[in-house]
Amino acid sequence: MNTIYLDNNATTSVAPEVVEELLPYLKEFYGNPSSMHTFGGQLHRKVEDARNKVAQLIGAESEEIIFTSCGTESDNTAIMSAVESFPGKRHIITTRVEHPAVLNFCKHLARKGFRVTFLPVNNQGQLSIDDVLKAIDEDTVLVSIMYANNETGVTFPVTEIANILKERRIFFHTDAVQAVGKIPIDIKKIPVDMLSISGHKLHAPKGVGALFVRKGTRFYPYIIGGHQEHGRRAGTESVPLIIGLGKACELAGKNPTGETEYLKKLRDKLEAALLKTCPDVRINGEVNNRLPNTTNISFEYVEGEAILLRLNEYGICASSGSACTSGSLEPSHVLRSMGVPFTAIHGSIRFSLSRYNTEPEIDKVIEVMPEIIKNLRMLSPFGRDKLNPDIKCAK
Ligand code: PLP
Repeated sequence: MNTIYLDNNATTSVAPEVVEELLPYLKEFYGNPSSMHTFGGQLHRKVEDARNKVAQLIGAESEEIIFTSCGTESDNTAIMSAVESFPGKRHIITTRVEHPAVLNFCKHLARKGFRVTFLPVNNQGQLSIDDVLKAIDEDTVLVSIMYANNETGVTFPVTEIANILKERRIFFHTDAVQAVGKIPIDIKKIPVDMLSISGHKLHAPKGVGALFVRKGTRFYPYIIGGHQEHGRRAGTESVPLIIGLGKACELAGKNPTGETEYLKKLRDKLEAALLKTCPDVRINGEVNNRLPNTTNISFEYVEGEAILLRLNEYGICASSGSACTSGSLEPSHVLRSMGVPFTAIHGSIRFSLSRYNTEPEIDKVIEVMPEIIKNLRMLSPFGRDKLNPDIKCAK
């Protein structure tokens, strides 16, 4: 049975071109780029090539890119750098729907005495620019707002917020882990100070990420030790993974608009078909301002976990916002913040596509989903009532 992988916001496959590019640096060229000898030293140029490719994807200068180990490290570094830069200021603004890499780090800082404002979103998952403005005070050192939400795909007005903040002396960081490689980003037009990238969300391997830090932005390293990355991130560079990230960024930059269109076409086909064939279904999140590859759909009266298990029988991989599958004891904090009713959260499924998905794969999901939902609803007391009002269940 072939796998139909529709969980690309969790992680992506490593592009074959990326594997090919990085393999020699796992095998023959294992040197340390800081070494004086040619065997190691030649790798320095490869790291700089990769840095240039990452920079190009977002319209940055290569000196503005720092390699990290993952998106989480990039996020933590950005936040820590801002608060270390102005030790007198103790207020941070973020949102309630950030990834835990930002959310839990801010909660950690709140326990250490920082004041953190967690901004709400509306029932479409949108953030109000007015709320951001109202939250700012004399003590605000950092605003950290994600570019696109990993669960719903909803994008935030990062450019508008950045334009407002650049007039004030407040750091602006955006977690763009889900956006880079999926939608075109030109950092010259978005005056953020820092932006996080993760390799494994754009067909590079796991274990590598990057942080964009705009030239002239005060920066404090988070990982302290050797002189690597010009003293901005210590630790011997993971040359193969960095080369892989560079190649993945080069691939993502080849035809960004074409890829966006392709993903959107497949996603919209899937969404339209499910809305038509499955009753009591809702899309979570503002549909017009979303990543092109993501849809978050709630199927009332069924458990997301049960849907995932049935999909798994067909080799279809997706994920759910219900507690059992989210890896935590609580159901999705994103959908809860949006005020999605609990019954809908429990039956929520996220399909997230990549350039490697095909139309026949989407057709397969469209074919099997109505039957899966119908059968599961027959097993659930509420669903059965709904499907067949003549059958009454013991309450
Ligand atoms: N930020 C967002 C929006 C994410 O979706 C993720 C991963 O899912 C991260 C940060 C963390 O990235 P990493 O897994 O590379 O640490």
